[in-house]
Amino acid sequence: MAARHDLATDPGLQEELLQARRGTAFFARKLNELADAELDGGTLLPDWTRRHVVAHVGYNARAIARLVEWAATGVETPMYPSPEARNHEINFGATLSPIALRNLFDHSAVHLSVEWRDLPDASWANEVRTAQGRTVPASETVWMRTREVWIHAVDLNNGATFNDVPPAVLERLLGDITGAWKTRGTDTGLLVKVTGTDLAFGDTSATNPTIISGPLAAVVEWATGRGTNSVTTHGTLANGTTPAAPNWI
Ligand code: ZN
Repeated sequence: MAARHDLATDPGLQEELLQARRGTAFFARKLNELADAELDGGTLLPDWTRRHVVAHVGYNARAIARLVEWAATGVETPMYPSPEARNHEINFGATLSPIALRNLFDHSAVHLSVEWRDLPDASWANEVRTAQGRTVPASETVWMRTREVWIHAVDLNNGATFNDVPPAVLERLLGDITGAWKTRGTDTGLLVKVTGTDLAFGDTSATNPTIISGPLAAVVEWATGRGTNSVTTHGTLANGTTPAAPNWI
């Protein structure tokens, strides 16, 4: 019989599940505020309408649910058959009727939540592979989903901002992004500072860095490539302008 509550017992993981579900509820709220005709409108992502964002977030829940099923059964079920299949699916989803698109989001979110709920405590450490080829424990799927729903709620471009995202999510996201830069060596000379804290990311050992600083939400907005509002740039290499953040996906 299916459980009525999460089987995960680790308090940290329980907290992460709460954060993912809060993010899903927040995305749902921003989606539900949109009239059907407004789904045709633009987003913060180039070439994507709100339809594409909603389709992507829905299919992403299904893809992450496949990883949770993989962890539960040991039967390998990748997120997507290929990057092409993923993109094709999004483009198809964007053509769905508004009601079908809303159902896709709602049903896929509930399905994922149930998969998480029913995953036995011991299975959360089982390893699965992400679409980027990283091998991670099943518990990582919670964070993967968390960052998707929060960022894409902002992308919907109907009032949500990075100020709506919980600080713990922002901080972890900034760590992910600057970690990806470091892995690729694209952060050379770039130092990211969060004002009012001693948080520093990026090329922290540079002798003469370009320094991007601002409140946590603002530097994350910049780091995700979604604008330069409320960040300040210093340093001899900056010429007074804020450079585009390196890619992180
Ligand atoms: Zn995404």
